[in-house]
Amino acid sequence: MSLTNILLVDDEVPFVETMTRRLNKRGFDILSAHTGQDALDQLSAHRNIEVVILDVKMPGMDGVQTLEEIKRKFPIAEVIMLTGHATVESAIEGMKLGAFDYLMKPCDMEQLVAKVEAAVLRRRSHEEKITKARMKEIASRQA
Ligand SMILES: [Mg+2]
Repeated sequence: MSLTNILLVDDEVPFVETMTRRLNKRGFDILSAHTGQDALDQLSAHRNIEVVILDVKMPGMDGVQTLEEIKRKFPIAEVIMLTGHATVESAIEGMKLGAFDYLMKPCDMEQLVAKVEAAVLRRRSHEEKITKARMKEIASRQA
């Protein structure tokens, strides 16, 4: 999958560094954030981000609160929640709030890559539908 822009959000810096290296090797372009606010700032600055990988457990604004803000401000961004055993409930809450999927830590790379690819496809198909609807709307105004 070409030119995929992913935002990885996790408060654990070494985790972010390791995952960034691994995902780079798989051909993904990774931006990173260590707080919910940082994630929202990155999404504002980089409109080409397609998928957000979001840690549930973060100090301050947690993953669920961050997800709510992402979905409010960037509704077509697809979000994959990362959770531990203790925070599975939050991941389920996230799914109800519009997250694409969730994954348990420690992350299985194959599973993560598969979920990211599926999320990218949904994002692109969603975007395509929006573009088509816009074009139809413009054409109907000109008729
Ligand atoms: Mg965390």
